[in-house]
Amino acid sequence: MSKRLFGKIGLVGIGPIGSSLARVICRERLAGHIAIASGGIETLKRAEKLKLGDTYTTEANEAVRGADLVVVSVPVGASGAVAEEIEPALKEGAILTEVGSAKVSAIAQMQPVVPEGVHFIPGHPLTGTEKSGDAGFADLFENRWCILTPLEGTDLTALEKLSEFWRRCGANIGTTDPQHHDTTLALVSHLPHIIAYNIVGTAADLETVTKSKVIKYSASGFRDLTRLAASDPRTWHDMCLHNRDAILEMMARFLEDLAHLQRAIRWGEGDKLFDFFTRARAIRCSIIEEGQNIDASGYIPSARQSGIRRSLAQQTAPSPRHPQGRCQLDPSL
Ligand code: NAP
Repeated sequence: MSKRLFGKIGLVGIGPIGSSLARVICRERLAGHIAIASGGIETLKRAEKLKLGDTYTTEANEAVRGADLVVVSVPVGASGAVAEEIEPALKEGAILTEVGSAKVSAIAQMQPVVPEGVHFIPGHPLTGTEKSGDAGFADLFENRWCILTPLEGTDLTALEKLSEFWRRCGANIGTTDPQHHDTTLALVSHLPHIIAYNIVGTAADLETVTKSKVIKYSASGFRDLTRLAASDPRTWHDMCLHNRDAILEMMARFLEDLAHLQRAIRWGEGDKLFDFFTRARAIRCSIIEEGQNIDASGYIPSARQSGIRRSLAQQTAPSPRHPQGRCQLDPSL
């Protein structure tokens, strides 16, 4: 039987990520006790019916009291309020992590209130489901990357313990600094979602203006591209507000490149277009070779993760000159 990692784990937030964690923690017997906190009583009732934990409460501080590991899985915009609520109940020596998709904002909200003696190590599992609520599943993290963004002075034993936790949940571990995480994610995850939402809006507007069927006849390319637009709107609302600068920077780059493409099309520059499409195709093929295009039911397709492995792998290891740790892939990978 596998060794238990923690006595008590407190899960604050039981959406897709929190509920998937609850399932895998239970399956892998990673904790002696799973305490679940969520704001809504209906959410908790469903979690209890699904037997996701041992105890259920609307009071986050109750769930984290005495916990050796606390995982905050709430919208990034709510992480500061949650940190304030749980702060008095956090146990000395506990590991506190959060899984928000925008690290700089989540850290800025939480770090100032984390008490001395608690190991705060933010992270982000690069996975997801288009479903919302507690419809997670135990395999959600299997062979996905979990990027940890340790802060200056992070205790290495706590970092290794949290890494081991994610490994036992099925994930591969990478580390990077929060800013690099946010810039990379803005490009490989946030921008594709924004484009998907936007193109669906364009098609819907065209349908209204031309009073003709556009979406009904959508070809597979349109359907594939717009699949991301099925994601929970609250997530993307949260992301645009909390990773605003990086998203705007990536949108500017994207629009610049699009303008070049537009010019090549306008001027009939066939060679340029052919080279451009050939290069993009080669990149897409390399993503498939790297096995990052998992498209099983429920997984966000590869656009969510595709570029990140290469991008993060190209970074250098943490060093005394970069105490926050520049990006490093786990050497065991
Ligand atoms: P979510 O829908 O963002 O949040 C669900 C949980 O947060 C529920 O328990 C909900 O409680 C609680 N919650 C919502 N608003 C709250 C507030 N204002 N204050 C306190 N609690 C609140 O769940 P999620 O999709 O699993 O995302 C959690 C975090 O993981 C987010 O930061 C997201 O960026 C990150 N993430 C998500 C994915 C994904 O694909 N979903 C992937 C990677 C990382 P009630 O419903 O009971 O009120």
